[in-house]
Amino acid sequence: MPDSNPSAAAELIAFIDLAAQRRRLGARIDEAVLRVIDHGGYIMGPEVKQLEADLSAFCGARHVISCSNGTDALMLPLRAKGVGPGDAVFCPSFTFAATAEVVALVGATPVFVDVLPDTFNMAPASLEAGIARAVREGLRPVAAIAVDLFGLPADYDAIKAICAAHGLWLMADSAQGFGSVCKGRRSGTIGDVATTSFFPAKPLGCYGDGGAIFTGDDELAATLRSLRVHGQGSDKYDNVRIGVNGRLDTIQAAVLIEKLKIFPDEIEARNAVARRYGEALADVAVVPVVPEGMVSVWAQYTLRIDGGRRDAVAARLKEAGIPTAVYYPKPLHRQTAYRGYPVAGNGLPVSDRLAEEVLSLPMHPYLTPDCQTRIIEAVRHAIAG
Ligand SMILES: *Cc1c(COP(=O)(O)O)cnc(C)c1O
Repeated sequence: MPDSNPSAAAELIAFIDLAAQRRRLGARIDEAVLRVIDHGGYIMGPEVKQLEADLSAFCGARHVISCSNGTDALMLPLRAKGVGPGDAVFCPSFTFAATAEVVALVGATPVFVDVLPDTFNMAPASLEAGIARAVREGLRPVAAIAVDLFGLPADYDAIKAICAAHGLWLMADSAQGFGSVCKGRRSGTIGDVATTSFFPAKPLGCYGDGGAIFTGDDELAATLRSLRVHGQGSDKYDNVRIGVNGRLDTIQAAVLIEKLKIFPDEIEARNAVARRYGEALADVAVVPVVPEGMVSVWAQYTLRIDGGRRDAVAARLKEAGIPTAVYYPKPLHRQTAYRGYPVAGNGLPVSDRLAEEVLSLPMHPYLTPDCQTRIIEAVRHAIAG
């Protein structure tokens, strides 16, 4: 950093500023982590139970099963429900790989469904088409995984109705959406089972890997708790099913207990940032919409820039010192490991198009008005280009 330009350091803009959150929390997390190091209950210590109770109080889910990461959180319910070869599980193509990975990993077939252009979330009509496709292929439709992409709840009224009509159970992949609200219900209470991730960059993140599963189903919860610890039965040394080592570290639980205390305030701050982006950029790009009755937690703030100009705009922003990201440059049905799986209808045109157009801007609860002004001006300038 040149000495002649003392303002340069202040001008560095982070895509996600975890350091600002750390400054706000001060010594609280350090003390919480030290308490665990001192008491020594590193595995399934008291903080794990405490966190599960806190998460349950926060979102209203009857059962919270913390686990090793957001991918295991998706995989364990599939195992608990006995999903396997010959079963079709429907998931959007425009998502992070983990959503479909777990389906393939248990031996079932992911069937890719398109998304809506305005919310980036599962398109109900495409889910219908995907179910028809699975049946034609001789697969047994068993479940759907809806994703709360970028922090916004999926269209659960429509998706639940389709699942009910076809006898599917529904899992909500809320890795990016924990804390969001759909028609008065918090993420974690929607679907037969919901999951989240505490990966550091998610809206509620820890200092490593972590995840959680939420359900109102007593029997499913008991099976999940057993699967999380090698399929343990009531007698610790008589394992009753094949499970995994899927526990959340006590230290991560201690971190999350402290972060959850400020999470409601952070959700407010994220929404204030999103409102300002929306007001300032709606005339130059397609800005994200939040349907009536929903609250997003803005894991990402994602614009659509059409006409093949997205990459040029991102390059200009980079030159101006504004970090951006493309989530996702390739929908899953186009990726090497997944392109052999069935897709709904005659292809997934919206997923394909979004991959060309999306651009995510810096988004976190500690984005100052000055930083945001700089970002907004740079985006307007880059698009006018
Ligand atoms: C991050 C993410 C996951 C996986 O979470 P990990 O904790 O990284 O395993 C699953 N689904 C979606 C949509 C995600 O964004």
